[in-house]
Amino acid sequence: MSAAKRLVDRLQPYLREAPPYAAVQPPEELARRLGLPVERIVKLDANENPYGPSPKALAALGSGRAYHVYPDPEQRRVRAAFARYVGYDIDWIAAGAGSDELIDLLIRLFAGPGEAILNFLPTFSFYPFLAGVLGARALDVPRRDDYSLDIEAAVTAAPRARIVFAVSPNNPTGTLLTRPELDALLDTGLPVVVDEAYAEFAGESYVDLVRQRPNLVVLRTLSKWAGLAGLRLGYMVADPALVEVVLRVKQPYSINAAAEAAALASFDDLALLRQRVQAIVQERGRMAKLLSDIPGVDVTPSRANFLLCRLEGVEARSVHERLLERGVMVRYFDTPLLRNHVRISVGRPDQTDILVAALREVLTELPAKAVRKVRSS
Ligand code: PMP
Repeated sequence: MSAAKRLVDRLQPYLREAPPYAAVQPPEELARRLGLPVERIVKLDANENPYGPSPKALAALGSGRAYHVYPDPEQRRVRAAFARYVGYDIDWIAAGAGSDELIDLLIRLFAGPGEAILNFLPTFSFYPFLAGVLGARALDVPRRDDYSLDIEAAVTAAPRARIVFAVSPNNPTGTLLTRPELDALLDTGLPVVVDEAYAEFAGESYVDLVRQRPNLVVLRTLSKWAGLAGLRLGYMVADPALVEVVLRVKQPYSINAAAEAAALASFDDLALLRQRVQAIVQERGRMAKLLSDIPGVDVTPSRANFLLCRLEGVEARSVHERLLERGVMVRYFDTPLLRNHVRISVGRPDQTDILVAALREVLTELPAKAVRKVRSS
């Protein structure tokens, strides 16, 4: 028996076979495969900001003087900036290396091994993935046909769960959590996390409600509206008693010095970043219209920076592959609740034009025999 085999045998059994998270791949890989410069890749698969970081953030990164010392474990400067942005005192804010780190902490704080988180499918698949890695599990409550929450089913499932994750606008549907839905979730008494990664594109948020409802936690990120996905910065707004525990148990230095510098500079460049959000929102409307004009493409109205499209008469996987061959990256779904769907991030107008032309080409090219019946389950 080799040493490697023995090591594997010692792994926690539930992790040895854990399924991977379907993370997005770097565009350089596709560019290499196609023999294209990476600038030619149209990357619309991860809801990133097509305009990149603010120029002030880039300048701050270049002139950073403190990269040789550890960053502040209490995250004072970034927490103060986030607090000012959302209108709270600093003791209501904890920051993480992306909202991903805070999702990890929240699951670990509330759902122990064998216990369950509640989520509403289709939604961000990171919650069930992470629950699995942490030895917990996900209770999945399917959404209704219009992607609204099945509150009756949620309330019935709540006693078996320890924490609820709801997303607004939801990824990948782009639909908002309504106030009556949120109230019903909060009334279960469970900790309710509203993940507002895309709130800036909706212009709506439940963050003000955190003061009134102590079991509400709102998660935000700088990955999307501020164009800092690569630097990993998210934050939560929650009751100071919970924030205090999060700050105590988190990794001490997870907000690195470069991320801090870029975040602080981004808040000095809010007018520009807000203009870019507006450009994306406007482009979302134009893109939705162009896609709806293509026969066989059914677009769900979205409040986020992406559009979910159902494709009729073709397999989403084949469409995804053929778009890749043309240097266009989108996300596809073929799950029981999302048969033959693609999710396309809203990019710059020139990227939309390339995407729409490529999609039209692919849809005329694909043989009708690729048709697969859309199941209702
Ligand atoms: N929540 C949702 C709903 C998301 O879609 C994403 C990004 N895909 C995240 C959280 C993670 O964001 P971050 O980059 O801040 O970890």
